Amino acid sequence: MMPRLHPGPSAEDYLKTVYKLSREHRVVIPAMVAGQLGISSAAVTKMVKRLREQNLIRYSRSQGIRLTAAGEKIALRIIRHHRLIELYLIRALEFTWDQVHEEAERLEHVISDFFSDKIDAYLGFPTRDPHGAPIPTKDGRIEDTLGQRLTDLQPGQRSIIHHVSNDDAALLRYLAELGMFPGVEVKMVTKEPFGGPYRIVVSGKTQIIGPDLANQVYMSP
Ligand SMILES: [Zn+2]
Repeated sequence: MMPRLHPGPSAEDYLKTVYKLSREHRVVIPAMVAGQLGISSAAVTKMVKRLREQNLIRYSRSQGIRLTAAGEKIALRIIRHHRLIELYLIRALEFTWDQVHEEAERLEHVISDFFSDKIDAYLGFPTRDPHGAPIPTKDGRIEDTLGQRLTDLQPGQRSIIHHVSNDDAALLRYLAELGMFPGVEVKMVTKEPFGGPYRIVVSGKTQIIGPDLANQVYMSP
């Protein structure tokens, strides 16, 4: 691949990251945003200041970073673009599910709403992206997806994979090798104490997976 100059995360990336973190944590602190985007806390401080001035986020020490209604609207718009692009690349251009995230990270910022609406219609108004995550509607509504993790299943319990909360290409390729996609049933056989490993059955085959992988897989509620 040709090396590209990287401009660094945009304001849209910050808003998207705060949105995602706020679904998993009660309080979103600047260090979490820095960690997620792989940038310094000084860079986050600067952006927090800028986004506050634009009334896109609020920030206080006790409540952390929160999106305003305007900020959330932008975050959901970008997430909608991202998830529709990922599905389009798979359905129309034969990408595999580990190849789509990087492309979508770039394209999500440049396509128009008209363009994403066209993709939406072309795909038949899908509700989930290739990793099982919900696609926000045009008017900014999104399904609540926080189900239980695979690691919460008790031995003997079965459940259907709902979504994978990680876009890492190597991890997705490995899950694909194990046949672990959204919609596939998993049975928990045994779990070792103190964080695994986990012995599971997927499509009739026994697999052993570690906690780093198991923690990324969410099951249908
Ligand atoms: Zn993605």
